[in-house]
Amino acid sequence: MKPIAVYPGTFDPITNGHTDLVKRAIKIFDKVLLAVAERPSKKTLFSVEERVKFAESIFANEKQVEVFSFHNLLVNFAKQHSATVILRGLRAVSDFEYEVQLANMNRLLEPNIESVFMSPGEEYSFLSSSIIKDIAIHGGDLKKFVHANVEKALKEKFS
Ligand code: ADP
Repeated sequence: MKPIAVYPGTFDPITNGHTDLVKRAIKIFDKVLLAVAERPSKKTLFSVEERVKFAESIFANEKQVEVFSFHNLLVNFAKQHSATVILRGLRAVSDFEYEVQLANMNRLLEPNIESVFMSPGEEYSFLSSSIIKDIAIHGGDLKKFVHANVEKALKEKFS
C-alpha cells in the first residue's frame, strides 16, 4: 500500500508552485494531506480559514487530497492522520539548509516519519508566497502564478 503524506506549510497564499507539487505527489502517495499551519505568532496576510478555503477550492475534485489546518506539533498531526511521510518542496539550493534542519529535527522527534523532498516544474521554481504578495501590492498580473480565487482575494486585499 502507498503511504500517506502530509504537506505542511503556511500557504499564505497557496501558489501554482504548491499546487504543482501536490499534483506530482499524488502519483506517488495514496493521499496528500495539505496541512495549513495556523501560525498565531506569525503575521499572515490571510487568516487560516481563508488559506484553507483557497486550497479546498483548488482541490475540490481531487479525491486524493485533503485539506486541514493545524496548530500542534507537525509529527503529532502526521501520526494522528496515519501519515508516515512529510512532504516538502525544494526550489533551489537556498531552500536546502532550512529544509534539512527541519527534517532532522522532525526525525529526532518521531523516527518513524520520513521527510521526502520534491521539486516543482521549473516554471514554478522561482515562485514563493512572498513574491506573490509583493507583486500584488504593486498591482502586477498574477494569473500565471495563482488560482483565480486567490488572485481575486489578493486584488481585494490591496485595492
Ligand atoms: P513554510 O512557511 O512552511 O515555508 P510555505 O507555504 O512557504 O510554508 O511553503 C510550504 C512548502 O512548500 C515548503 O516546503 C516550501 O519549500 C514549498 N514551496 C513553496 N513554494 C514552492 C514552489 N513554488 N514550488 C514548490 N514548492 C514550494
